[in-house]
Amino acid sequence: MHITLIINYLNYFIHRTRCLLLMTFVFAFANGFQLPIQIQQLPREDRAVIRDLILLNFPPLHWRKTHSDASYDVVIIGGGMAGLTAGAALFKEGIFNIQIFDENSAGLEGPWITYARMKTLRTHKEIMGPALGIPHLTFRAWYDAKFGSEDWKKMEKIPNNLWMDYLKWFRDVMQLPVENHCKLKELIPNSKCLELKMECRGESFFVKAKKVILATGRAGFGGVIIPDVVKDLPKTQYSHTAEIIDFKKLKDKKIAILGVGASSFDAAATALENQAKEVDLIMRKNRIPTINKFGSLPYKGFVHGYYQLADEQKWNFMKEALESAIPPPLDSIKRVENYSNLRVLANTTIEKIECNSSQIHVLTNHGQLTYDFLILGTGFKIDGKEQLELKDVIDDIALWKDKMPSDLFSDSKMGLFPYLGPSFEFLPKKENNTSYLKNIYCFNYAATMSHGLLSGDIPSISVGASRMAQGIAADFFIEDSEWYLNHLKTYEQQEFQEGDFHLNIVHPAEKS
Ligand SMILES: Cc1cc2nc3c(=O)[nH]c(=O)nc-3n(C[C@H](O)[C@H](O)[C@H](O)COP(=O)(O)OP(=O)(O)OC[C@H]3O[C@@H](n4cnc5c(N)ncnc54)[C@H](O)[C@@H]3O)c2cc1C
Repeated sequence: MHITLIINYLNYFIHRTRCLLLMTFVFAFANGFQLPIQIQQLPREDRAVIRDLILLNFPPLHWRKTHSDASYDVVIIGGGMAGLTAGAALFKEGIFNIQIFDENSAGLEGPWITYARMKTLRTHKEIMGPALGIPHLTFRAWYDAKFGSEDWKKMEKIPNNLWMDYLKWFRDVMQLPVENHCKLKELIPNSKCLELKMECRGESFFVKAKKVILATGRAGFGGVIIPDVVKDLPKTQYSHTAEIIDFKKLKDKKIAILGVGASSFDAAATALENQAKEVDLIMRKNRIPTINKFGSLPYKGFVHGYYQLADEQKWNFMKEALESAIPPPLDSIKRVENYSNLRVLANTTIEKIECNSSQIHVLTNHGQLTYDFLILGTGFKIDGKEQLELKDVIDDIALWKDKMPSDLFSDSKMGLFPYLGPSFEFLPKKENNTSYLKNIYCFNYAATMSHGLLSGDIPSISVGASRMAQGIAADFFIEDSEWYLNHLKTYEQQEFQEGDFHLNIVHPAEKS
């Protein structure tokens, strides 16, 4: 029986995801615990992960029914940290027929070496992150194997480029199937599956999937915030911090940066390090915020219990956290404190911005200021209507404002967060033929109102991905339960033959 399963599995896995992990599995079986020669030649950090996976009896049996309605069980949009963790979590649940698409080049997914301008992560270095409880899949194990434990002790926080290198390794060692330069343009529900209009390297094509995970990042459900006062400016005059900015071109320029969050300070530091002439950080508040309410939340009770709270309690928690300003990290402030050409303009409201030739005139409540370039550290928006790829589904999706009393959200943007089910799936606004929504999973920052901090930041990303993957496994089983029942009924695999044992089995004579 095992041999048949292994052979079936072998064919399947080689076809789907190349074969490294599978070879591990088969050879581990064949050789006791001796790793095969091909694996012995792999780098130390890879071998350690493979050994962990064997100890965890990975991979689980392939159990998914094959079907003709869709090419993939699950398509993940976004190959950043969340998409990769989701992919690995699905593998852990024995769901291998998956595909990840990302619009960027390989190695440039997410913010880490593109628009994240801090030198190191903000999170402490010991985080488990995407490792899904697999010890040698952690950043620490990878770092230890590559650079040694002495270096680990010396490192205070994780440098951005090393975090990106780690994510690239994570993708490789877990054999995750990522197709880069592929953008989701439209998500179209049909009766049997979801159709995805993809654009890959200038070519359009359709992909069919049973389920779709949107691991589309911080801007994935609304994009970035562009304040109204800026909207009429020529785009050459400003950038958002979430864009690639050529700071070399800002040498000797006067720059205004709106906002005093982490990204604003990091942009200011990068501009000053590139010899900007003057940098003003403009804030409405009187003081730079110093308390990060989210910092109080990543304890296990919150991580695991938040989803189960009543809606009103969730609302109360998130109102406290989401509506308070998040301070910049001290590291980011320290990076600019010695520049005499940096000012933080407090209590400053921008009333109007005009532009003539190459100069930007910013009219504030304290008078007019003139700059060469504007950078918006204004953060991200939650408003699914801004996502063109969701235009066919967005009006069906339940939002928090559809579920809460209207006076609660009248002065709050929190009502625009999607109201999600227990596995991050969208729920319908109305019960009208929208059952397809349960097959679309919102695994980006917009899930925060419903699930807490499980899909945006590093610390609890594994909890979120596992919750979602287990929900997906359960849903596949429930949806195809008739097929699985039939499989059970027709299951005839004998554990042994009667001739394999010698027992004195007595059949008492039947009464005549
Ligand atoms: C500047 C910055 C610094 C941060 N620092 C930290 C930190 O120190 N610690 C911490 O815990 N958290 C941090 N975060 C928060 C969070 O960890 C990151 O945003 C992280 O990148 C989230 O991972 P993700 O996979 O959800 O999103 P991303 O890493 O952004 O990945 C999403 C991917 O999906 C792609 N995509 C989106 N739409 C489509 C589409 N339609 N088709 C194809 N591809 C698409 C995107 O281009 C991107 O590559 C930071 C966030 C930012 C913005």
